Amino acid sequence: MPETVIEINPQRLLTDLRQLATFGKLGTGVDRPAFSQADIAARRWLEGRMREAGLQAAIDRCGNVYGRSPGASKALLIGSHSDSVPKGGWLDGALGVIYGLEIARTCLEQKSLAAVDVVSFEDEEGRYIPFLGVKSFCGVLDEKSLAAIRDSGGRSLGEAMSASGFDGAPACFEPSRHVAYLEAHIEQGPRLEATRRRIGVVSGIVGIRRVRLTARGQADHAGTTPMSMRKDAGAVLMRLANRVLDSFESMAAADTVWNIGVVDVQPGAANVVPAQASMVVEFRDMDAALLERLLARLLELVAQAGRGAVSMELEEIARIEPAPMDRALGGVIAEASRQHGEEALYMQSGAGHDAMIISRTVRSAMLFIPSIGGRSHDIAEDTSEADIVLGCRVLASAVEKLAP
Ligand SMILES: [Zn+2]
Repeated sequence: MPETVIEINPQRLLTDLRQLATFGKLGTGVDRPAFSQADIAARRWLEGRMREAGLQAAIDRCGNVYGRSPGASKALLIGSHSDSVPKGGWLDGALGVIYGLEIARTCLEQKSLAAVDVVSFEDEEGRYIPFLGVKSFCGVLDEKSLAAIRDSGGRSLGEAMSASGFDGAPACFEPSRHVAYLEAHIEQGPRLEATRRRIGVVSGIVGIRRVRLTARGQADHAGTTPMSMRKDAGAVLMRLANRVLDSFESMAAADTVWNIGVVDVQPGAANVVPAQASMVVEFRDMDAALLERLLARLLELVAQAGRGAVSMELEEIARIEPAPMDRALGGVIAEASRQHGEEALYMQSGAGHDAMIISRTVRSAMLFIPSIGGRSHDIAEDTSEADIVLGCRVLASAVEKLAP
């Protein structure tokens, strides 16, 4: 064990994590979407825990819970989110918030030189707007359009915000104060477990392209129309899908991922030639240039497929640029991990995180700990207590080195 100045309290860390998991508890997981009763109660509890720790805590109107270390002019910012997907796991987001709380609390108790501010961002999971809280915190949220945005059940964000009772002044990034942002998170995938590593250092968060490809033909009787006379949108789309999968396989880098997760055929009857067929192709990588090459290839394939009796079109429906994490900060986490006897695995994150947004404003780093069986966004999500404690110790050691 290294000589640690910031010696966290493992039992208190686990107790707080378990306590947070009682809000919206659902079996072994939680159901705590942004602005639900459970989310609101959890945020009030967090605010209280931050105050007890000696932080100046408040909840802003977007629901961000923000605890400032008193008396410091410069601070590290540590956080994540405490909202969950519906029927989600107990650690996604919660882990990074409670790590921040435990490290800030320890620093205040031990009168350590490190000043740590803690934040739980609201609606990372996008019930209303993905990354609502962190976007507000970074000043990149389009405030005018907020109130009218509705969740899938039709409830407006304006209604949700006023019903929450959260009315604090907006918490915001402080350029002269915040020297770096650190976010710990469960991996939500199987790589750490598969390589028997206990700490991951995130090199970056992948960029995403999402496109809808639509074929338009003509509906006809599938029994009486000769094959040569059909304008079969379904057949054209399926052939195209095969070409897309083949092309991606030959062009991909080692960590590129792609998915055809939505396919729709209209009118959708066994005895009707499809008049229209569409699919959504999504692909992710750290390399923006590669994403553009894949997109260009898709355009070529669509142009070729749409030459006959069936027309084809491509519509881009989402574009998120890759977010590299700060190399030097990542190196500090890797070094802290080595001090605790663990060689960290450098890896990209295939999932989005609050760090993706805030890294455009301040240098940022992420630490991953293993997810058992790679499971996440499900109540089955879990991590061993030993790994949870180790992750917090490593982050505390990194904080020591980075203390402003
Ligand atoms: Zn998360």
